[in-house]
Amino acid sequence: RSNRLLSDLASRVRVVLRVRPLIPSEIEPADEYPASCISILENPVRGFDDEVTVHLKDQWTSRNECYKLDSFFGQADRVAQIFDKEVSRVIPRIFRGLNATVFAYGATGSGKTYTMQGTEEEPGLIPLAMSAILTSCVDTEMKVEVSYYEVYMDRCYDLLEPKAKEIMALDDKDGRVQLKGLSWVEVHSMDEFHEIFSTGVQRRKVAHTGLNDVSSRSHGVLTVSVKNGNSKGKLNLIDLAGNEDNRRSGNDGIRLQESAKINQSLFALSNVIYALNNNESRIPYRESKLTRILQDSLGGTSQALMVACLNPISYQEAVHTVSLAARSR
Ligand code: ADP
Ligand code: MG
Repeated sequence: RSNRLLSDLASRVRVVLRVRPLIPSEIEPADEYPASCISILENPVRGFDDEVTVHLKDQWTSRNECYKLDSFFGQADRVAQIFDKEVSRVIPRIFRGLNATVFAYGATGSGKTYTMQGTEEEPGLIPLAMSAILTSCVDTEMKVEVSYYEVYMDRCYDLLEPKAKEIMALDDKDGRVQLKGLSWVEVHSMDEFHEIFSTGVQRRKVAHTGLNDVSSRSHGVLTVSVKNGNSKGKLNLIDLAGNEDNRRSGNDGIRLQESAKINQSLFALSNVIYALNNNESRIPYRESKLTRILQDSLGGTSQALMVACLNPISYQEAVHTVSLAARSR
């Protein structure tokens, strides 16, 4: 990791871990069978470079494993803390015409949507970022626009269009991908944003008739763009598809294909992050649709953050998520 400091200046992607609390349905039968079967050292060892070592332990079998990550948020930590410590610092960069990306990564049920979208009581990183951006724009000439699309089975759907219209991802002359015809909607206030975003979220839930719960099997990408004269910066806030362990989930047919696509794109993303963090000369953007679309927002002068989310009740799932997150660094 001797090149860590050098890469900090440019494109290092931070990888942080968040463990959600148990939810009521998981606590109910707790008298007889405690639902939580992983324990996590709540005071992770803080090492050199602010690195933390997280210790996962299976309470049933006492299997355990350690992983190194950039930071750790425990069950009592709120989304606002993740925003303050990890996300707020990238916002000024957007106003300087630079790009940034925040990913929520983890299995279905691990708290990705809660972290990104949040609830009325606890706003997620998307509304928190939007609100900070709008606040900075008050009384300026800056123009704030949003787009919202999903990537499902390597196809892109515009969630700001009726019926989540499919849009084409086309190679431009520099070999980069452009989303042709993607809608951009200007936003002036949080009220306006909530209305636009909730319509998109609703579309994401119902767009694929006949298929169950595609929303957790697609990547949802909300992009905020800030135009300031000639400069244009972008912040991508991404609720990734739930990663899954095919050996365990018994997927077949369409599910198996979806699963293969999801795992392929998450693996490609982790490869890109790894290559960036290790200063490799070739960054494998082309291995998936998602990484191709995000190419201008990962690496170079862009900053990125991966929030790996854990459900506290499954040790096996936690190991699956954290091992990929930790290997990205
Ligand atoms: P995912 O999007 O990864 O599938 P969700 O965000 O839908 O997972 O979270 C799964 C469940 O856990 C939901 O009922 C959600 O409300 C709850 N949950 C997730 N994170 C938290 C948290 N930090 N505090 C309280 N409840 C949470
Ligand atoms: Mg979700």
